[in-house]
Amino acid sequence: MQSSWLCRPTFTGQSGSDSMAQSTQDAMTVETLVAADAAIPFAVPTSRWDDAHAATLSPAELLLYRSNLLGSDLTVTNFGGGNTSAKLTQTDPLSGAAVEVLWVKGSGGDIGSMKLDGFATLYQEKLLGLEAHYAGPDDDDKMVGYLPHCTFNLNGRAASIDTPLHSLLPFAHVDHVHPDAIIALAASSGGEAATQEIWGGKIGWLPWKRPGYTLGVMLRDYVRANPQVEGVMLAGHGIICWADSAKACYEHTVQLIADAANYLNGKLAAKPAFGGQKVAPNPDRATIAADLMPRLRGFMTGARRKLGHWSDDAEALEFAGSVEFERLAALGTSCPDHFLRTKIAPLTLDPARLQDDAYLAEKIADYRAMYAAYYERCKRANSPAMRDSNPVVVLVPGVGRITFATDKTTARLAGEFYGNAINVMRGAEAIGEYIALDEQEAFDIEYWLLEEAKLQRMPAPKPMVGKIALVTGGAGGIGAATAARFLREGACVVLADRDASAAEDVRAGFAKQFGKDVVRAVACDVTDEAQVQAAFAYAAREFGGLDILVANAGIASSAPIEQTTLELWDRNFDVLAQGYFLTAKHAWGLLKRMKEQGGTSVVFIGSKNAVAAAAGASAYASAKAAANHLARCLALEGAPEGIRVNVVNPDAVIKGSKIWDGDWRKERAASNKIDAGEELEAHYRNRSMLKRDVLPEDIAEAAYWLGSEASAKSTGNMINVDAGNVQAFTR
Ligand SMILES: [Zn+2]
Repeated sequence: MQSSWLCRPTFTGQSGSDSMAQSTQDAMTVETLVAADAAIPFAVPTSRWDDAHAATLSPAELLLYRSNLLGSDLTVTNFGGGNTSAKLTQTDPLSGAAVEVLWVKGSGGDIGSMKLDGFATLYQEKLLGLEAHYAGPDDDDKMVGYLPHCTFNLNGRAASIDTPLHSLLPFAHVDHVHPDAIIALAASSGGEAATQEIWGGKIGWLPWKRPGYTLGVMLRDYVRANPQVEGVMLAGHGIICWADSAKACYEHTVQLIADAANYLNGKLAAKPAFGGQKVAPNPDRATIAADLMPRLRGFMTGARRKLGHWSDDAEALEFAGSVEFERLAALGTSCPDHFLRTKIAPLTLDPARLQDDAYLAEKIADYRAMYAAYYERCKRANSPAMRDSNPVVVLVPGVGRITFATDKTTARLAGEFYGNAINVMRGAEAIGEYIALDEQEAFDIEYWLLEEAKLQRMPAPKPMVGKIALVTGGAGGIGAATAARFLREGACVVLADRDASAAEDVRAGFAKQFGKDVVRAVACDVTDEAQVQAAFAYAAREFGGLDILVANAGIASSAPIEQTTLELWDRNFDVLAQGYFLTAKHAWGLLKRMKEQGGTSVVFIGSKNAVAAAAGASAYASAKAAANHLARCLALEGAPEGIRVNVVNPDAVIKGSKIWDGDWRKERAASNKIDAGEELEAHYRNRSMLKRDVLPEDIAEAAYWLGSEASAKSTGNMINVDAGNVQAFTR
């Protein structure tokens, strides 16, 4: 979900694993961090300001520099990062007069990575004049609509809902951030006293008020009445502070965070977090997560399929394994940004009952009922309809945190936000009692009408968003082209290939093109059952399950019958028949899980030679025929489970093919008594009825159609993509 509430951006962030099958942290590190007798400390930031660099910058660039420094330091603030502003004197383009312009981080974007065009620019005089339109808290939504009328210099960047916090304060430079250490104070019953103890009256305290114009007015009035303050804690939310220069403002912000972190670390050092450890990290947690995620995903019925993200970071293991876990988890999160990403509360599971499907189904059903009851309790006359009621965050003691969303990046970010929420709870409980966001306030933020309007304007998702595909032979020509086709339509893809380094190269290329979150690579020799099983477990753990299997990994050989050794015969059957059998067999359990969500699809990449006889390639053609018949058998067996099984029969796809790179090219050329170069390609082109080359992208197109909902009524079929070959006509 995107949010214009406040300070959180439309995300473009992508992380995910940078290398193959390296999704978990070093187990030693995590287990050491989650020691039974010590809490995880808060990071303490230090200034990274560079005077020499700053001296080269214009006033607007100084604001950007300060913002980027704050936002890119994860010890200062978490993803998205808050907002920053400066009031600068500029020349009015119409009158030529010098005017005061508020530069403030606009709606969307992340202060860590934003550019100058990420700032909204508004006439400060007009912003101050808006107060004439404000009669009280009921006008908050109306005031948002006036902001565009204050735009300076036709800047198209929309001003965010936090703009009044900046415009109504009479200071040249203002920062507003939500670092974990600060929210920990802001969300604790002991927070106000701690604020007094740390800063001795230099930092003020405002009770919770949801962001908007009213909060801006409250803040302005508070600062007028307390002129000695240098910043104000916003309860349940974050902090706002100011200074006379960009450097002073930045260093002030960093110092306040460091003060809060040092204070909390002093309190945390005395005792373990959350009442101490009850459940230690389970050494088998990766295996447990891989088993659990597809089952949870299968029970999360609704309009859209979910992508999963598992994390066993130290925060998740410390919190979920603690004595106070159930009590605190039930309270939900505090800061609006955390809440919007993670929903009203997480779902918690008993690690002793994870094998029990009935238990999991009941827990999901209970969560959905709980969410519906929350909606009914809090809804207002004009509230938008209830949204998806499935849990976003699932916590399992000893195993970690699993988050679900309709796309992978959102699922990952939800997990990261819950990690921030854990830090907040740890700090808040160290100085008092953690205070969650009030339920009605949470609802009013979640179902804010202006947010709903924004959601309604979002474009329809791509057709494969929410789908998880595994492609064997994913590093080869047809495999990579098929993966690219799926990725382009929004799917998440696991590239499984015997050649691990080739698969990693393809993954790295796709990560640049489509984002790191949506593609993974795993080493998999389809003749090795243990590797096949491990590849599917990897897909389950990385994305949450499986919707589409493309069995594509292949070899080819060419030899007259008398020269076909038993070894050659077996090799063809090992890869092409048994390999397809093993991949289908071990995909089956994952695929069955999605029956209620519209079912799943298996696509076999077959061959023209599965249908048409081939002289001098009997081992290859017979093994391909076996695989195609396996597909028909599985289509019959899969139908009651919602699993469709279809075949694409290519012919002579030479470009990008690993098969055609080797002996097969020479063997086929020799068999056809032609040159192995361009003559071979011309030979196959001219042999086809349409006289055209068949490319990997052509096969990918058919695989895409069979993998997608467009072919929802097709199973047991073969599609020939061979530029026309009468021998391969099915009859
Ligand atoms: Zn904020």
